[in-house]
Amino acid sequence: MKYENIRKQVLDAILEAVELGLIKGTSGNIAVRDDNDDVVAITPSGIAYKTMTVDQIAIVDLNGKWLDGPFKPSSEVPMHTTVMRCRPDVKATVHTHGMFATIMAMLDEPLQPTTPPQAEFVPVKIVPFTMPGSNDLAQIVADTLGADGRAVLMKNHGMFCCGKNIKAAMAATIYTEEMAQTAYYAKLLGKFQPMSEEAVAAMKALIAADQAV
Ligand SMILES: [Zn+2]
Repeated sequence: MKYENIRKQVLDAILEAVELGLIKGTSGNIAVRDDNDDVVAITPSGIAYKTMTVDQIAIVDLNGKWLDGPFKPSSEVPMHTTVMRCRPDVKATVHTHGMFATIMAMLDEPLQPTTPPQAEFVPVKIVPFTMPGSNDLAQIVADTLGADGRAVLMKNHGMFCCGKNIKAAMAATIYTEEMAQTAYYAKLLGKFQPMSEEAVAAMKALIAADQAV
């Protein structure tokens, strides 16, 4: 089987996302880019994830052209491949309809972290509703992520996260959902106290220095 390594990374990650409750039904999709060939493994469209096998993961090129696999690639191919074309550092992308991320996107204000691990993934900006699967959505997500963004919330839809590998993209997904969840409950409590800008900047500097080692 061609590209078994990246196909397996996609399958393992989608099963983890299902297990964590970040993906329900066939919503959400995950892509991993091959280091050498500029091809991308991505979840297929409309196939149940729990019983999915490695060979069923689709392969596309960086322009989203379907190259291999028995089932049509996810309809969100443009979002994953557009971000990868814009960001050579991004090797993996995750799109989910996480409940709290979706709720907090309604506030039209960037998410704020409440714990140090969450700080790595800010700023998390909100993009307005744009038709799923469209090139317009792909472009606005890529533009909003910019040169080093890790996560974006999509109004009335969900979130999109990325990273230098699948582990990093999944961490962005998990902590962005957690950030939305903690902010949601704290706001309900009436005492939302996010980390200060100084604390966020210090955490980000610490993380960057550790990654530089
Ligand atoms: Zn979606």
